Amino acid sequence: MTVGTEHGTAPLRDWVPPVRTMMIGGAAVDGHGERWAVFNPATEQEIATVAGADAAQLDAAVAAARGAFPAWSALPGEERSRAIHRLAGTMESRSDQLLASIVNEVGTPVSLAEVLQVKLGITHLRWQAEAAKTDRTVQLGAFNDPVPTRSEVRYLPVGVVAAITGYNYPLNLAIFKFGAALAAGCTVVLLPSPRTPLTTLLLGELIAEAGLPPGVLNVVIGGADVGQALTSHPGVDRVSFTGSDLVGARIMAQAAASLKGVTLELGGKSPNIVLPGVDVAPIAVEMHLRWSRNAGQGCAALARLLVHESLYDEFLAAGEPAFERMRVGDPWDPATNVGPMIRPDHRSRVQGYIDGALADGGKILLGVDRPLPPAGWFVNPVLIGNLPPHAAAVQEEIFGPVAVILPFASTDEAIRLANDTPYGLAANIWCTDVEEGRRLAGQLRSGTVWVNGGGGMRPDAPFGGFGRSGVGRELGEWGIREYLEVQHVQWRACRGRA
Ligand code: NAD
Repeated sequence: MTVGTEHGTAPLRDWVPPVRTMMIGGAAVDGHGERWAVFNPATEQEIATVAGADAAQLDAAVAAARGAFPAWSALPGEERSRAIHRLAGTMESRSDQLLASIVNEVGTPVSLAEVLQVKLGITHLRWQAEAAKTDRTVQLGAFNDPVPTRSEVRYLPVGVVAAITGYNYPLNLAIFKFGAALAAGCTVVLLPSPRTPLTTLLLGELIAEAGLPPGVLNVVIGGADVGQALTSHPGVDRVSFTGSDLVGARIMAQAAASLKGVTLELGGKSPNIVLPGVDVAPIAVEMHLRWSRNAGQGCAALARLLVHESLYDEFLAAGEPAFERMRVGDPWDPATNVGPMIRPDHRSRVQGYIDGALADGGKILLGVDRPLPPAGWFVNPVLIGNLPPHAAAVQEEIFGPVAVILPFASTDEAIRLANDTPYGLAANIWCTDVEEGRRLAGQLRSGTVWVNGGGGMRPDAPFGGFGRSGVGRELGEWGIREYLEVQHVQWRACRGRA
């Protein structure tokens, strides 16, 4: 595979976006703030240095979004839709570059990044572009007490949105936010994780190339300081954040002083339940390959396996081939399905959970034990059993290729265990009776419930969590409404002069 650059074609493997400039008010701007080294986590090589926004540049980005808001929000939905489709088209035409950027800065295996990031992201953006056309006005009709009136309910764009993303899926996490916000008629200041800023900087270039009106979508770079200034900025009307629950709680507090609404897409500790009677042979491998996807750096990773005691031994035996199929290493190898951790400190944290689980009495029941590549922040995937339900590895988000397994004796116990964490992002139930699975879904405190593995991530379905997994929802109509204010208009018949 090669990628076109202004210098001709180059192998994708070595390509990182050359863009180092932020996008503020339609202009490419060099950062005057903190400098961030970007690493390829699969090679440990520094691949770029990026300068972030200083206070004045952040103010300028918010001012640009405010300045663009009146015209953008006043455009007919059809026109906003066309502009968003144009951006999607530009992204399609540069999808090889987006892919290379994601693989090289996140370490996501190329096969996964292509499907789950670039293609999925653009599909969702196209859906959001269509949703920009929807007239959501509701006519309430007549109300005659004490005088005859009529009413309608309108949905107005909330204003300037601060959109902050986590490192693990830099492209689609950004699209989920700005696609919905732009469709709603809002303008955006987008702040990616400084650990993976390159894909979003490239996006900034594509925004200009697609001819989006200046200021409608701005890209700034920075860490917690810039994030804090942005989320508490008086020129920002709403905050949308994807990241950890700890930072999410901080952001809610930062936004509270000016009473901004927040959408928070946070972490999870999602259960995967296997009810009695299920044939585990065809599903065990799929279950392990799923939680180890993106090296476990997925918010909805189903990394807490709850298996009926009658199936426990058979399930472990059936899962062994998954660990033979896990290829840990070079993300550019199409056979690789487990890439690196994002940074060495995160790898230490994940290793700390494994060590802690063993100290809590846990045992590694299945795992990859081939030697790790000499460079890169890799961790071999492991499945840990024999743990009490209150162990840290069972309760806390590890965000690495580590799953835990607990047996249960009754369906009631399975539901109790499934709900027994502070999170509630996703869950899956394997069952022989789909109707029973659908019924049990109602007992799970979880924003998404899959039955028998569910399916692809629909652009028209909501995504988000209960408890510490978040506030509000992204995607679908629900995601767009996060960026709309509700307005009731009530009128009496016009009275002319007698
Ligand atoms: P993180 O919380 O460490 O950082 C996320 C972003 O917040 C970064 O851009 C960071 O610079 C910024 N930030 C830090 N402090 C801030 C502050 N005080 N104010 C404003 N911004 C601040 O998360 P991460 O490690 O990048 O991402 C992993 C986490 O994201 C995991 O917990 C994962 O579950 C979660 N996640 C959730 C979803 C979802 O849709 N629910 C999707 C992907 C990832």
